[in-house]
Amino acid sequence: MHHFRIDLRSDTKTIPSAAMRAAMAQASVGDEQLDEDPSVNELVARVSTLLGKQKALFLPSGTMCNLIAVLVHCRPGDEIIAADNSHLISSESAGATALAGAQIRPVPAERGIFSAEQVAIAVRPQKVNAPTTRLIHVEQTVNRGGGAIWPIDVLRDLARFSRERGLAMHIDGARLMNAVVGSGVDAKDYGDCCDSVWLDLSKGLGCPMGAVLAGSDEFIEAARRWKFRLGGAMRQAGIVAAAGLYALENNVSGLQTDHQKARRFADALSSHECVLVGNPETNLVFFEINSRRMNAAQLAHELALEGIGIGVESATLLRAVTHLDVSTANVDEAAATICRILR
Ligand SMILES: *Cc1c(COP(=O)(O)O)cnc(C)c1O
Repeated sequence: MHHFRIDLRSDTKTIPSAAMRAAMAQASVGDEQLDEDPSVNELVARVSTLLGKQKALFLPSGTMCNLIAVLVHCRPGDEIIAADNSHLISSESAGATALAGAQIRPVPAERGIFSAEQVAIAVRPQKVNAPTTRLIHVEQTVNRGGGAIWPIDVLRDLARFSRERGLAMHIDGARLMNAVVGSGVDAKDYGDCCDSVWLDLSKGLGCPMGAVLAGSDEFIEAARRWKFRLGGAMRQAGIVAAAGLYALENNVSGLQTDHQKARRFADALSSHECVLVGNPETNLVFFEINSRRMNAAQLAHELALEGIGIGVESATLLRAVTHLDVSTANVDEAAATICRILR
């Protein structure tokens, strides 16, 4: 396995800082399964307030947040509407289908953002031979949409539509705080648009693991049962929750710096004729290369030889993600190295 000096493969690559580890070492803990862990209880209280929800639940991963939300909202044979490039469809081992028995209807969505009008077309008629449309699934920010932020007005339209039609709405907030920092919209305003929402602690917030799922009292009661059933209930999980509390206190405003680093990286690359790069809204930079000499995998390989890690999405598409552990100088070096290799 490579060790990268500069790891742009994902914002999951952050190593917990010394200060975060100190907070973890000092955490008060108890049996989380019995709601007796004070650090976990503090974390879920903070996140439910942040997202404007009645209650929240600490879970090992974002994937489990999505899965449990689907298990609570859907019965087998129900249908979920989600963007065709969503993480739910591409990167969660088909958990919604394999474990919840729900079918996903992909909506073609530029940058992962779709409208209430598109959903209106995708909702099934109430016929005995049609699946029952149950849930609208939205990613904020959109991972494979280049880190795009759903505008609050589009989300509100969708929320209004979902209420009118009796559908549930769920926000996958793996990078919700990136959207908050990037747009200036309150986390609570996003929370108000949906029945369930979660945020990941292990992405830009820099924690070793963990995610928090929020919703109504009733939703979280049902989610808690699924957490137990799936083996996600923990013991002295406060050790990890303390990292989350530390991150919410100290690592949120720094996401703005990650966004600046992403724009700087994109700007540096855009000067190169072989590279096609958009203007990143948050911390994800997708770029196309057009070189007769090499494809994306070969470029990634050349970069790896210089200690730089980058994500390969297709033969021509790459992804770079900025985070706490890459500096401005790292980003400059990575962009310069890419330009040098392609030249
Ligand atoms: C990373 C990610 C997830 C899954 O979160 P994990 O904590 O890695 O399980 C879900 N959705 C999106 C959009 C993600 O980027």
